[in-house]
Amino acid sequence: MTAQIELARDEMTRARELATEVIGIDSHIDTMQRVLVMGEDLGKRWRVGHVDIPRLHEGGMKAPFFAFWVPVYYQGAEAVRRALDLRDAMQWLLDAHPDKIELATTAADIERIVRSGKISAFLTIEGGHQIDDDLRVLRMYYLLGIRAMTLTHSRNNNWADASTDKPVHNGLTDFGKEVVREMNRLGMLVDVSHVSDKTFYDTLAVTTKPVIVSHSSMRALSNVPRNVTDEMLRALSRNGGVIGINFGEGFVNPRDREALQSAINVETSATSLTGKALDDYAAADVHKLFGARVNVVATMEDVADHIDHAVKIAGIDHVGIGSDFDGVSGPPNGLEDVSKMPALIAVLLRRGYAERDLKKIFGENHLRVIRQVTGS
Ligand SMILES: [Zn+2]
Repeated sequence: MTAQIELARDEMTRARELATEVIGIDSHIDTMQRVLVMGEDLGKRWRVGHVDIPRLHEGGMKAPFFAFWVPVYYQGAEAVRRALDLRDAMQWLLDAHPDKIELATTAADIERIVRSGKISAFLTIEGGHQIDDDLRVLRMYYLLGIRAMTLTHSRNNNWADASTDKPVHNGLTDFGKEVVREMNRLGMLVDVSHVSDKTFYDTLAVTTKPVIVSHSSMRALSNVPRNVTDEMLRALSRNGGVIGINFGEGFVNPRDREALQSAINVETSATSLTGKALDDYAAADVHKLFGARVNVVATMEDVADHIDHAVKIAGIDHVGIGSDFDGVSGPPNGLEDVSKMPALIAVLLRRGYAERDLKKIFGENHLRVIRQVTGS
């Protein structure tokens, strides 16, 4: 018994060391909602939420992708306005803490910023409705430093079907294919989390670059539409892309599925509001989502099972972390916030993962795709 406790302590010590050595990419956190809606300064440690700069360092996750999620009831120009509001909140954070966090637009940026001891901020758009069906808007996002876009959120947009909606386009429309080509040309990562299976395969048929599945898990272990099938994993592997494993309720343990459905339902309600009234409506949603922690049965052993399965089917070079922290209400027991990541590393060490494999999962795989897509 004593020997076992000693072993566990050694694993935790080694895991904490390894957390400082990995690049620490998480391909999806929703923390910018906290900055825009709650006005929280991520420079200090909070007792609420899942992510802030001190906790990113504690967890070793020094290079998260900050997602700009815009609820799908923001339509047309209103969705563009909301994306710009989120970009402005990001700029406020960057300007408030130039010694702690810096914008990254390439893999070389990420490596340099992390080496300097700062947090690297890689910016992504969550939901293709934010380009208002206009490639010129997409190009302006690129100029604002945004380097990835999730093609849909929870509902279909005018050019792509989502996994949690009734299909109307049979995948990507011709304009949707143009969006993918333009993202390839600009050097933006195409993110196929949230999209329908047909949209996923249509995107892979069009793209000339590796794609990411920024925050999804395994349908073989939890059969929800937001997760991917083994066939999709094999296609992702052939494409050279990477999947970030989602920690959210229902993604990792099917017994938490109801909680996932109610989170999706929050966003289904349509509204004809605009301007401040619409922002107030969205703020109420964000407060609902960020309210009391939803109790889940999922544990970090479940998360490790998803990583094992993804590695078995797609290969060690195609798996990463995409926690969805601050976008989910019930992260797994043992992984309640980003500061707990070394505990997951310890579980994986115990399961026999080599340190070089963990470095791939905790950053190098995503870094490879960023380098291929952005060119540096
Ligand atoms: Zn999402």
